[in-house]
Amino acid sequence: MPAAPMIYLDGFATLPLAPEAREAMLRAWSTPGNAGSPHAAGEQAARCVAEARARVAAAVGASPSEMYFTSGATEANNLALLGVATAAIEAANPRRKIVVSAVEHKSVLEPASALVRNGFTIEIVPVDSYGRLDLSALRQMVDDTTLLVSVMAANNETGIIQPVKETAAIARSFGALVHSDASQALGKVALDVLDLDVDYLSLSAHKCYGPMGIGALFVAAGAPRPSPLCFGGGQQAAVRPGTEPVPLIAGFAAAVEVAAQRLELDRAHGKHLVQLFETELASRQIRFRRVTGEHDIVPGASALALEGIDADALCTLLARTVQVSTGSACTSGQIRSSHVLEAMGYSSRHAREVVRVFFDRYKSDADAKAAAQAFFAHIGHPAVATGEVLQ
Ligand code: PMP
Repeated sequence: MPAAPMIYLDGFATLPLAPEAREAMLRAWSTPGNAGSPHAAGEQAARCVAEARARVAAAVGASPSEMYFTSGATEANNLALLGVATAAIEAANPRRKIVVSAVEHKSVLEPASALVRNGFTIEIVPVDSYGRLDLSALRQMVDDTTLLVSVMAANNETGIIQPVKETAAIARSFGALVHSDASQALGKVALDVLDLDVDYLSLSAHKCYGPMGIGALFVAAGAPRPSPLCFGGGQQAAVRPGTEPVPLIAGFAAAVEVAAQRLELDRAHGKHLVQLFETELASRQIRFRRVTGEHDIVPGASALALEGIDADALCTLLARTVQVSTGSACTSGQIRSSHVLEAMGYSSRHAREVVRVFFDRYKSDADAKAAAQAFFAHIGHPAVATGEVLQ
């Protein structure tokens, strides 16, 4: 019997590589050249990097000189938080408060808490039960001692779109700087740094059908430059030194460009497949609700609470056929609810009911139907109802 086809629905974690990005990388890989070298091969590499920088910048309405390539959004977020804080200390700017949302990725929360050792205070803005930022709480927390406010554009566990523009307006009224982690939004929803009015924006290629290991930080021309986290050969104005990985950068730009061209197509396709999947689940009497209610989410995304179902057990049973992720994470050998669901008020029991799917550009109606059927086939397993740990 042929093995059942695998259906990859874990796009919050990483998306498949776009063929256009693969081709751009293969081309760049077959041409050696360090963008810093003073000869024809070096010039070609430098041209490739410059063109890619312009294309990534254009995708978010920025100028090429405002875009710094990094190893991904983790580094971009660290550079934004730690780099801006260090620059403030160096400039004798007395502001020492940083405000972040409770549902940020750990690559924002962790550098923020590390800054406590340097005399910063961190305020955590709560979210409502759908995971939306509480703007009135934000308004209470930001004041004229606030250096930076960091609120993500879209959440990586629920897909909820956050009110970045409204956040920026509040931050600006107190003279604070604004950072947004747009890793999960790039290429899925329209992003414009001028419209959002942010000073810093983090991007990641692999959440946008590009390669892993490359991302970028936008730094607005008028905003303080983050102090570097590492020192070296002075590339990228010494804000982020290191030899530019030409093939990854070329792949990133190609992925961003395709996503920009396909924005509406991908949006409609993702929404359609989520709807089809949910209809197929409902037609099999599977009881669920979207944790984000009817609020705006990244197209293709869906975080579902399956009533009375242990999502971790279901995920384990599905692992060889349908790849999804859950609302729990295994930290130090113990299963813990995600901090995102905790912030939304979920008890650990209810967080265990949450499963996250992402229907990407390359998924079909047949995939959505087969995934729903696979859910149905396993939901009757006794371990799924009882939460018994499966080996
Ligand atoms: N921020 C968010 C919202 C993410 O989803 C991720 C990836 N899970 C990151 C940051 C880190 O991105 P990268 O893998 O590029 O370091």
